[in-house]
Amino acid sequence: MDYGIKLWGDNNFFIDNKKVKLNYKSSPSLVKIVQQIRENDIKGPILLRFPHLIEKQIDLVYRTFNKARAEFKYRGTFNAVYPLKVNQYPNFVKNLVQLGEKYDYGLEAGSKAELFLAMAYNNKKAPITVNGFKDEEMISIGFIACEMGHNITITIEGLSELENIIKISKKRFGSIPNIGLRIRLHSSGVGIWAKSGGINSKFGLTSTELLQAVNLLKKANLIEKFTMIHFHIGSQISEIGPLKKALREAGNLFVQLKKMGATGLNAINIGGGLAIEYSQHRQSMNRNYSLSEYANDITFLLKDISVRKNVPEPNIFIESGRYIAASHAVLVAPVLELFSQEYTEEKLQLKEKNPPLVQELYDIYKTIDSPRAQEYLHDSLDHMDSLLTLFDLGYIDLIDRSNTEILVNLIMKKAIMLLKDKKTRELLRIQDMVQERYLVNFSMFQSLPDLWGISQSFPVMPLDRLDEKPTRSASIWDITCDSDGEISYNRASPLILHDVDVTKEEYFIGFFLVGAYQEVLGMDHNLFTHPTEATIRIDDTGFSVENVIESQSILDIFEDLDYDIKEVQEILNEKIEKSSLIDDKTKKYILGEIYLFLNDNGYLKTINGKDDS
Ligand SMILES: *Cc1c(COP(=O)(O)O)cnc(C)c1O
Repeated sequence: MDYGIKLWGDNNFFIDNKKVKLNYKSSPSLVKIVQQIRENDIKGPILLRFPHLIEKQIDLVYRTFNKARAEFKYRGTFNAVYPLKVNQYPNFVKNLVQLGEKYDYGLEAGSKAELFLAMAYNNKKAPITVNGFKDEEMISIGFIACEMGHNITITIEGLSELENIIKISKKRFGSIPNIGLRIRLHSSGVGIWAKSGGINSKFGLTSTELLQAVNLLKKANLIEKFTMIHFHIGSQISEIGPLKKALREAGNLFVQLKKMGATGLNAINIGGGLAIEYSQHRQSMNRNYSLSEYANDITFLLKDISVRKNVPEPNIFIESGRYIAASHAVLVAPVLELFSQEYTEEKLQLKEKNPPLVQELYDIYKTIDSPRAQEYLHDSLDHMDSLLTLFDLGYIDLIDRSNTEILVNLIMKKAIMLLKDKKTRELLRIQDMVQERYLVNFSMFQSLPDLWGISQSFPVMPLDRLDEKPTRSASIWDITCDSDGEISYNRASPLILHDVDVTKEEYFIGFFLVGAYQEVLGMDHNLFTHPTEATIRIDDTGFSVENVIESQSILDIFEDLDYDIKEVQEILNEKIEKSSLIDDKTKKYILGEIYLFLNDNGYLKTINGKDDS
């Protein structure tokens, strides 16, 4: 069982000696990395960042586009910017900027805050593009970036922004940013993010507005500064068809605008949307194209239009974010509890004289073997039905009912084990019925918000024991008190995990491809905050753990919510001081406990007294 690692893993991970390992240099296992971090008394979920995977994606994008350009003898340049909204965390962004320096890989900003980050961290020669709605102040910040010497293009979403640019250009000090126009296309994307493109899109100028924009630019003597047209048809584009349509439309708009006298226009920015494969099952793959196909189609189509219409080939800009960021981060979280572990033989409270059907269940449980597994399974389900009816009618008591539940559950598990090589449809159905709930030490709202919000699935798998056939059809529960905090699976695409006794062993679950969008979208629901993170550098002989940032303490969370943390502490302390139930020595001890707990993070360490370490 490889959990589809060959489908979504992109050769970044492999299974060896029972464990998931990184397919890079010394190939450490994820479990080994996590255990090393946890040695420093760090518990709860850990987000691992791998800079070598950021480097891989950047290299891949530039190499693939440059190969396509060479193949089609494309005379325009290829440029990429990373859209900060996808992941703004410093240990991601700083690595990305450094790794991208040799390509002049730039940054894209969609807000004032992101623009300031771009101005602070972007490599000097690399481009900055600015999208999204802008007020005068934001446009002024763009001018400041230009005055600093950045190569910046402000893409306008509407005519009023252009009017603001013209107004501000008269007031400032001479350096004027390049101007891009976001075009509104007929063609739109497919999939859950398709809203970004299309004629009803939130963004972009209509044909009429484009004509007006060109006139305004000419009148203001800024037509040379109009260098780029831009579109973005949505994220995670699952099919290449709509993109090709959008390219033809954009290519012809480029030609028309050039012919109308947009003499400075030299670039088409095709936005982001390059999809990655999240699926663990062949029947539900997420995209129908590869990076090469994407690069070849873009280069070929733009070349073709330029040659036929006799305009210079536009410089190509892309703003892929998900494709660059998703793979670099893996969330690892320990299993805290299996919920049906209450169904153990020790919990049986058999009586001297049991109801005959209970006695029969017990005999089935003791004697079930492979030849008769199916038959006995049917019998026990039948008996359970009868026994539950007897309970409703008042003929058996709660102890009998508890014995029934335990025995049937035990029989099902035994039958599943005995029949594991004969996956009949019925057995699969029963496996669903005894779906084991794995309580995992993480918050879905914090770490996988897109799973909660838009049902985006992420690859999930155990990180160890991969030589053993797992037997438990699982669903995953997070530690929030919200019934939505569950990842459920169905028979068509199940998650099968190993039986674990969490009192005796650690069992870690890995959530993969969580590097794009999840971190900043994550919510502090129930006040679980960003997990502890660490950056892992792998070399030929081992690995090093850098920049460990522990999950926020409970007091930090209160502070974020604008509580006066002194006040909170004082109130708590006063209540202990005033308590008449305890003596002074005990009070001192409890005050110490409160202090420690408030200064630690809120993720769980133990459950039922069992330490998760
Ligand atoms: C969000 C966004 C992107 C990034 O999209 P991905 O699907 O992550 O590649 C690029 N450009 C613009 C304008 C965006 O809004």
